[in-house]
Amino acid sequence: MTDVTLTDVNEAAKQIATLQNQLKQWAKEYYENDAPTVEDAEYDKIYKRLEDLESTFPELIQADSITQQVGGQQVKSELPKVAHEVPMLSLGDVFSFDELNNWMNNTQKSFTEALSYNAELKIDGLAISLIYENGKLMQASTRGDGNIGEDVTKNIKQINGIPSQLNEPISIEVRGEVYMPKANFVSLNNSRERDGLPTFANPRNAAAGSLRQLDPKITKQRGLAAFLYQAVDATKILNVTNQSSLLERLNGLGLPTNSTNAVITNMTDVEAYIISQTKNRDSLSYGIDGIVIKVNNLHYHEELGNTVKVPKWAIAYKFPPEEAQTTILSIEWTV
Ligand code: NAD
Repeated sequence: MTDVTLTDVNEAAKQIATLQNQLKQWAKEYYENDAPTVEDAEYDKIYKRLEDLESTFPELIQADSITQQVGGQQVKSELPKVAHEVPMLSLGDVFSFDELNNWMNNTQKSFTEALSYNAELKIDGLAISLIYENGKLMQASTRGDGNIGEDVTKNIKQINGIPSQLNEPISIEVRGEVYMPKANFVSLNNSRERDGLPTFANPRNAAAGSLRQLDPKITKQRGLAAFLYQAVDATKILNVTNQSSLLERLNGLGLPTNSTNAVITNMTDVEAYIISQTKNRDSLSYGIDGIVIKVNNLHYHEELGNTVKVPKWAIAYKFPPEEAQTTILSIEWTV
């Protein structure tokens, strides 16, 4: 945790305002322009400092604080807008096993039954919502600010693997992540460099920039892909009771899902899963920036609910920046 030694509320208010301005500027560059100017680790460090100050001085939390908003961006005006009936949220994050252990212990406190969790890869792309009616793909939208996203229906139809027709004639909203495979990212940046165009900072920004295009032909050329991992009203519509079986059910409907998940019941196994997926990270054809731990029982998701920004039934364990990772794997992560 960042060391907050401030006791003067006026000084804290000044610091909070400075941090807000800086983070909002970076968020604009990242979300609206798909062109970040600082590393995620730097953004996360300043964000954490702001969170710590706000938790020390809760009376200073403003409704428009970046900590109280999903994404924190306005949606790009050229694309048509779509209102999400159920908000699309972000994820809370932790950066160490201790923090993750605390989150699991706190979550467990609400239940007498021992919880199990579904561990999944955190795909480094952008969130997407797909609405199917009677099995037919009707609308696709980005997360935007969580309540209002951008209509990318024409673009999503250019992505191989996203079915325009499900295997069953059901009506459902499914959510997941659109990403750019690493090989496509490298060749896209190479060709942009040859053409004297600015390159994308990372596959996530490249995926966002490629999906949020006015011309679907450009999206098609970029070779995006997707994994789906969530469905609105899954228990009622799909008759599933946990996250791991939801993934299988989505796959059975013809949707692309990631099969690297594991059902886990204790911290030792969570650590082992994280270590093994971290070691395997470079061999994947797509980028991941962490591991998402979700309470497996979907009924408990409803019981736990959400904050204004994140679900309380899931947490993202974020990988350290690439350069720090080698050291961590060799020095600290020995099981
Ligand atoms: P996030 O990317 O940290 O996590 C939430 C998102 O994870 C979800 O919305 C979903 O799209 C995605 N996700 C991927 N796999 C998933 C899975 N299996 N299950 C559930 N969700 C999954 O949160 P965010 O709010 O989109 O972005 C915040 C992060 O963006 C920050 O931590 C920071 O690293 C980065 N950021 C960087 C800058 C910069 O300037 N570098 C600026 C703003 C934000």
